[in-house]
Amino acid sequence: MKVVLENLTKRFASRQEKGKDVIAVNRFNFEIPDGQLVGLLGPSGCGKSTTLNLISGLEVPTEGRIFFGDRDVTDLPPEERGVGLVFQNYALYPHLTVEENIIFPLQNLKGKQRMTKDAMHKKALEVAKLVQIDQLMERKPKELSGGQQQRVAIARALVKIPNVLLLDEPLSNLDARLRLQTREELRRIQRETGVTTIFVTHDQEEAMSISDLIIVMKEGVIHQIGKPQEVYDDPVNLFVAQFLGTPAINVLEGDIRDGKLYIGSEAVLDMPGKRNGPVWVGIRPEGFLLDENGPFTCGMDRVEVMGRDVSVVCTHPNMAGRNLRAIIPSENRMDAGAKTVRFSLKPYKVHVFDRESEARL
Ligand code: ADP
Ligand code: MG
Repeated sequence: MKVVLENLTKRFASRQEKGKDVIAVNRFNFEIPDGQLVGLLGPSGCGKSTTLNLISGLEVPTEGRIFFGDRDVTDLPPEERGVGLVFQNYALYPHLTVEENIIFPLQNLKGKQRMTKDAMHKKALEVAKLVQIDQLMERKPKELSGGQQQRVAIARALVKIPNVLLLDEPLSNLDARLRLQTREELRRIQRETGVTTIFVTHDQEEAMSISDLIIVMKEGVIHQIGKPQEVYDDPVNLFVAQFLGTPAINVLEGDIRDGKLYIGSEAVLDMPGKRNGPVWVGIRPEGFLLDENGPFTCGMDRVEVMGRDVSVVCTHPNMAGRNLRAIIPSENRMDAGAKTVRFSLKPYKVHVFDRESEARL
């Protein structure tokens, strides 16, 4: 089911300053297409959980409307919206078995939706199989690993066949390997069920790897919505460019003069058609080519081996005190003793931003 947010806004009285408001969610307008997995991405405190809580009905919006399909659900209580919720802490009932935890949401169904015990067991087994915990039905939560507990929470959220599945940092409590595995599982489960899913995370790699669409937000405002690769390749501003990608994009002071991009005194790229003036230059780490005649000269700090690639850590006066990182294939012969290193740049990996507004030029 598609989810439409219209002008959705939530203000809280500030916890820090009396009499001041925090705008946790500021005039959101977007439509989540039916059956897609959308990653809601942004730094801590930017309003992700509040957005999810508004969609689930746990929070009441200050302004704006929420639609599931064509139905306005803004004034419906959470239990009438048909949402499945999964949080970072799995919030299972400790005294109930896995099966009882999964069945729990089915027990209070009223009227036509009421289910027999048999039907509930059947349904619980079906979703348990989907998340691959059907062998663990008799266990208590404390007898499960973190990853298994989170699967139980997902099964419980799916058992009523929700209109929308809402996941708030569901993988944050898992260790690195399990996080990777569980996110692939999530993607599979979402594909198999076709449930429209909103996945909240502050981890850009996690969001990029499993989402059909990502929404990048900061301080309650949406900055960009798009397919992960499109947003990575085509960031609308410096914030989005810096938020996506590890290692982060390198940001340098630069200038555009007469159709050329200058970093310091070096003309590093042709940039026809852009107006003269100071810019921020963003260069993705994979945008460098080792080139002894290249136009861009950096100081050589060290080479870090990463296996398939090496990370060349450089210095440059226009980097405002930070190191510059170039990722290049490890086949390249690097003279680690050299004082300087020269690069040419891949044009589609270089973005320029207005120095004031930080909008992409
Ligand atoms: P995120 O999930 O992206 O970390 P939240 O949605 O939890 O961010 O919070 C967004 C902003 O709203 C933060 O500044 C937070 O302090 C504030 N906030 C959230 N809930 C409340 C509340 N109940 N009362 C006051 N301020 C709140
Ligand atoms: Mg949160």
